[in-house]
Amino acid sequence: MTAALIDGKAIAKDLRERISGAVGPLEAALGRKPGLAVVLVGEDPASQVYVRNKAKLTRAVGMESFEHRLAADTPQAEVEALIRQLNEDETVDGILLQLPLPDGLDANAAIALIDPEKDVDGLTEVNAGRIVLGKQGLVPCTPQGSVILAKSHLPDLSGLNAVVIGRSILVGKPLALLLQSENATVTMAHSRTKDLAEVCRSADILCAAVGRPEMVRGDWIKPGATIIDVGINRIEAEDGTAKLVGDVAFDEAKEVAGAITPVPGGVGPMTIACLLRNTLLAAARRAGQPDPQ
Ligand code: NDP
Repeated sequence: MTAALIDGKAIAKDLRERISGAVGPLEAALGRKPGLAVVLVGEDPASQVYVRNKAKLTRAVGMESFEHRLAADTPQAEVEALIRQLNEDETVDGILLQLPLPDGLDANAAIALIDPEKDVDGLTEVNAGRIVLGKQGLVPCTPQGSVILAKSHLPDLSGLNAVVIGRSILVGKPLALLLQSENATVTMAHSRTKDLAEVCRSADILCAAVGRPEMVRGDWIKPGATIIDVGINRIEAEDGTAKLVGDVAFDEAKEVAGAITPVPGGVGPMTIACLLRNTLLAAARRAGQPDPQ
């Protein structure tokens, strides 16, 4: 059997098109474009690529992109002053602090200052608490995108067994909570889990967010399961070039699973699309408008 491919690139493009369609009416209501501010501190090459990409896609859906680039040796107080200023700026609906920050800066202290209504990464304590309480908030982008991909193949997750490997604040924990709110029965596995392969074999939906190249093997997978591979790992290919792989051994898994996300082209594109979605939601909610569909 060969699994169906869950095409994150195409699903993300659809989502961006829907966002783009909702921006016009919201702009008319607000009297300005929704705006996303991205703060990049330092010269980390991967972060620079992400920030450039985010800005490009933000403009492509018709929203305003504000980029703030600070030197790597910027003092904490200056980063925090910028966040306070963006909190007050009425033209800014979403604030994203690109992580990781250079050594010597305290990311948690900076994130804690972001106005929860503009926290489009969903990282503040207020938004984390809202997920736990099942209240409306801004949901972290990667978990949100992962659930959209799972539901593109399995529209009703109710009663299904879901296993999430990884319990990070950014991905694993919120993903487990979101799947639970979709009425899946969720197991959260991590580095201390005993007999991980056996736990994984119980999963109708298996989400891997670990950061270990191709850790999940074909014989860990229940036949027909839906696999969401969040991992992005850079490894050396046989010919010596660099290539990206997920946390799941794709070639083995596709022979057993019912559906699987590729890496690249799976969860990755959804993360940025969901960031744009959160910016749209933040803009609408701040203006007292209904959530655009
Ligand atoms: P973290 O390093 O913060 O968390 C990794 C988690 O995996 C931890 O909970 C850890 O357990 C668990 N883990 C580590 N080793 C094992 C093991 N041998 N068996 C079982 N569990 C293990 O990573 P993130 O959550 O930030 O990211 C996970 C992956 O997702 C990375 O590859 C990252 O690049 C990718 N990612 C992709 C995104 C996208 O847009 N597609 C966005 C964000 C991340 P413990 O808690 O016990 O230490």
